[in-house]
Amino acid sequence: MTEPSSFNFAPIGLVNSPYKEKFAIPRQPGLVSAAQGTITLLNDANHQDLVRGLAQFSHIWLIFVFHGTQTQGWKPLVRPPRLGGNKKMGVLATRSTFRPNPIGMSVVALNEITVKQQQVILHISGLDLLDQTPILDIKPYIPYSDAISSADAGFAHTAPTELLNVRFSEQAQQVIEQQQSLYPQLELLISQVLAQDPRPAYKKQQIDSKVYGIALYQFNILWHVDSNNQIQVTDIIPI
Ligand code: SAM
Repeated sequence: MTEPSSFNFAPIGLVNSPYKEKFAIPRQPGLVSAAQGTITLLNDANHQDLVRGLAQFSHIWLIFVFHGTQTQGWKPLVRPPRLGGNKKMGVLATRSTFRPNPIGMSVVALNEITVKQQQVILHISGLDLLDQTPILDIKPYIPYSDAISSADAGFAHTAPTELLNVRFSEQAQQVIEQQQSLYPQLELLISQVLAQDPRPAYKKQQIDSKVYGIALYQFNILWHVDSNNQIQVTDIIPI
């Protein structure tokens, strides 16, 4: 048997995402509906012809490169966070970013396609992608074939965690109000992201007084978990 040669794919698009760092990005698409982003089509792929008919679909598949971790290599066994980081599973049985080929796939909502000064832009939501993620391909989501209601989802049969309550300090509320016109969904986005409790599994099993920061849009959001296991957002600082 001859082995196929290697392949060289250029990105057809670039993601603009509110998630400016890996920490706190949801583990799968659709978990944070308030996450809105865009895909800017690039070079030869930037033409209206490529997206003719696509706006009829409510959801699309994105095939992308895990560009933020692609140089970090991979191992045959990984510890899925949903198993508490204690059990090892084969990398191909997981959605780990550290894979033999660092390629990811996500279904996201397609809200609109716009063309301005010959630049095609896809407006998406529910994404789980880091800012500047390179897109290799886009395909329509086709429920009759892509959604299998009887599928067995192994060790990933339910959505990841129980959701935590998220509370905002007065300072944080003020910033949210000031930013209302530019970022109308900011409060919802922060709430949905933090409700997932992005801390590593071992931190959730102990008393945790650490103050965490996450980068959303151009804000550093400071928060901690209080003794009632509620998330307190203390500061929202423009970066
Ligand atoms: N839905 C995709 C899949 O199943 O292939 C991604 C799942 S992966 C578990 C989701 C995580 O990938 C996010 O929480 C984030 O930490 C990470 N991630 C997203 N975009 C990335 C990128 N461009 N480079 C590296 N890591 C990324």
